[in-house]
Amino acid sequence: MDQPAARPPHTIRMHDADNVAIVANDGGLPAGTVLPEGLVLKDHVPQGHKVALVDLAEGAVVRRYDVPIGYAAKPIAAGSWVHEKLLRMPDARELDNLPIATVKPPAQPPLEGYTFEGYRNADGSVGTRNILAITTTVQCVAGVVDFAVKRIKAELLPKYPNVDDVVGLEHTYGCGVAIDAPDAIIPIRTLRNISLNPNFGGEVMVVSLGCEKLQPDRLLPPGSIPITDQRGEDTELDVVCLQDAEHVGFLSMIDSVLESAEMHLERLNRRRRETVPASELVVGVQCGGSDAFSGVTANPAVGFCTDLLVRAGATVMFSEVTEVRDGIDQLTSRATTPEVAEAMIREMAWYDAYLNKGRVDRSANTTPGNKKGGLSNIVEKAMGSIVKSGSSPISGVLSPGDKLAQRGLIYAATPASDFICGTLQLAAGMNLHVFTTGRGTPYGLAEVPVIKVATRTDLARRWHDLMDVNAGRIADGDATIADVGWEMFRLMLDVASGKKTWAEQWKLHNALVLFNPAPVT
Ligand code: CA
Repeated sequence: MDQPAARPPHTIRMHDADNVAIVANDGGLPAGTVLPEGLVLKDHVPQGHKVALVDLAEGAVVRRYDVPIGYAAKPIAAGSWVHEKLLRMPDARELDNLPIATVKPPAQPPLEGYTFEGYRNADGSVGTRNILAITTTVQCVAGVVDFAVKRIKAELLPKYPNVDDVVGLEHTYGCGVAIDAPDAIIPIRTLRNISLNPNFGGEVMVVSLGCEKLQPDRLLPPGSIPITDQRGEDTELDVVCLQDAEHVGFLSMIDSVLESAEMHLERLNRRRRETVPASELVVGVQCGGSDAFSGVTANPAVGFCTDLLVRAGATVMFSEVTEVRDGIDQLTSRATTPEVAEAMIREMAWYDAYLNKGRVDRSANTTPGNKKGGLSNIVEKAMGSIVKSGSSPISGVLSPGDKLAQRGLIYAATPASDFICGTLQLAAGMNLHVFTTGRGTPYGLAEVPVIKVATRTDLARRWHDLMDVNAGRIADGDATIADVGWEMFRLMLDVASGKKTWAEQWKLHNALVLFNPAPVT
């Protein structure tokens, strides 16, 4: 493969007030390098890592994104590598006296005329894929459902060419848990709402063991979902219970699952794509395997695209509590109403208490890879993460596992954990997922298409058949944030219309991982 020509020394400073910049060159820059501004590097500075632009006294504020990301633990000379051991982390922002709905971003003109080809559902939602999902009440049935899904794919799916896939919604919940604990509502409503994801066309079938704590009527109580039969009349929840006396032998269970699946496949097969406005997109954005470029290239481009989507009337969810906690004041000030700001503060306070119960704080978030990629601490990581939310007003807040009931830019409170965040955004009703990564992750979901965005050209080149967008061109000077933002917007409409992402081509599917803050037994 072609190697890029060596580029002249290139550093990126995010704000004029910053006293550090990051090195953009592949492989970093050696000691002795003269930067364009004349500063000479005292150390080798790896790619994505920070260089001190001025002499910093012990205790001096180290500023990036025009925000204090730390304090110098000892004197740092200009030109030195500012690595994480040289930084003392600021305390978390208190949750009182925050600016509430103070920023009124200028109204942006609506973006009209953009459409995609989607599957309109009876409840008004729109799917981007046509998938038979098999809901499970408990992990005990996972092996049986796996076996059945293989048979369905081999024997039934070819007869229903309009159906894209069959997915077992398997998870580790359902029994051995304190199901009456107050926080058990989170995993239960997550599972319920995932069953109702727009990509499943309102077809709900359940496989249950029989003796589990999470009984089918607790997961999906009568009236919680509209269920109709072939004639459109209300009917009972479709449940295959493995312990039912009618099942004699393993294969009789499989026959039951297949029989039930065929009924739903027939109905799903009648779905057709139709032209719908871009406002029907429900996009979940998140990042994983972040590096110092995440907040320079991919996330700002996602933020630009978020603003385009909001202007088009679509819904965008951003999440990841521990990665926005340090920018809470930026978020509460952008809330459309005091109620929205208060809801954000309530979610953050809940999460603070949750972390506190485990005797950690938000600093537990950063990974060895984040640090290797140049992110010294959670404050620096959060400033780069929060820009995914763009600049639009924040009009709503969701608790973990809740389902969306409004459009616009929504803060969906979830852990930052990639798989848990994705699972909760599925429950909220996302029909398209955007995932930025700097270190690189092959993340994918079976339930919705995932568009992956690389923060660096080096990653995009090496992972050319895993990354859908290369935002590293922004750091290279080959594209603007707006260029990549528009490219993403157009790609989203194509993918929503059926174009496959790399993760779909290779069928890379991460497991659903439920957020269960309640005890297990
Ligand atoms: Ca994440």
